[in-house]
Amino acid sequence: MNLLSEIQNAKSVAIAGHIRPDGDCISSTLAVRAYLKNARDDLKITVFTQDNPPTIFSYLEGYDEMNLTYSPKEKYDVFIALDSSSLDRLGDSLWFFENADKTICVDHHETNAGFADVNLVDPKASSTCEVLYGTFDEEYINEAVAVCLFTGIVHDSGVFQYSNMSRKSFEIVGRLVEYGFDAPGIIQDTFYVKSYVQNQILGRALLESILFMDGKCIVSMVDRKMMQFYNVLPKHLDGIVNHLKNTRGVEVAIFMYEMGMQQYKVSMRSNGGVNVAKVAAVFGGGGHERAAGVEMNGTYYDIINALSREIEKQMQ
Ligand code: AMP
Ligand code: MN
Ligand code: MN
Repeated sequence: MNLLSEIQNAKSVAIAGHIRPDGDCISSTLAVRAYLKNARDDLKITVFTQDNPPTIFSYLEGYDEMNLTYSPKEKYDVFIALDSSSLDRLGDSLWFFENADKTICVDHHETNAGFADVNLVDPKASSTCEVLYGTFDEEYINEAVAVCLFTGIVHDSGVFQYSNMSRKSFEIVGRLVEYGFDAPGIIQDTFYVKSYVQNQILGRALLESILFMDGKCIVSMVDRKMMQFYNVLPKHLDGIVNHLKNTRGVEVAIFMYEMGMQQYKVSMRSNGGVNVAKVAAVFGGGGHERAAGVEMNGTYYDIINALSREIEKQMQ
């Protein structure tokens, strides 16, 4: 897919990612914005996000121009959905999807069935930002675009650590860093540095974690009381599940936070032996082989039991 060819006749484009946006989601939407601004100064471009993007990404060009509301009076010729595996992941952006003349989807989730008019889904890619790079003409990539693409790849690959990094991913990263921005600084400031309370809550989650299935699984949970006590939001809990996974012998790590009464957001990470996207899909979620998520109802222990059953099936 060549993105410029796909929007050739468009005069207006709306861009959005998924609900509760992560690094790849914010970066991919802002990468497309910056790229289209460089290539097409006649185009009206709107970036929409249902939920506030994490402020750590405020250095990305266009961050302050992301819209949290939309006007039903405005119509867009093209809507571009990014990093979203299905329509329900779009949240309020669904309005754009339903009202645009043409819809385009660029993504890297294996579970994406291709819900738009034109779809480019590459489950082998590290991130949506990596997939996007292949749709861009080099001449319209500037430092701002490169910074966005780099940030997305860094965040979805756990700083180039996960198995979703291929030779191609590394080559793209190599080309991006040539634009001369502070790559180590971006990694440090957006991936590793956490606030004091975030580190405290991470400590609590590790302290209260439980090993089960002979040490092959680990689980921990943060409830609403704890979130209120530390005054943190769900987006501040990103990364805890990766720390749980870095426990010797563990094959699957599960982290949950309480969204409401008997309602949990579950994050799962795997070392490869268990496909956690399949486990999540049983309960209506999705994601990737080694990183998946789902929202579930029930008590903490009900949920652990339900997930364990599915994990065990794959371990046999
Ligand atoms: P998370 O655990 O939220 O960091 O998500 C890990 C991966 O699973 C990401 O690629 C998400 O896009 C995906 N994911 C998370 N939650 C859901 C969900 N409810 N439905 C489908 N995919 C999800
Ligand atoms: Mn994402
Ligand atoms: Mn992604």
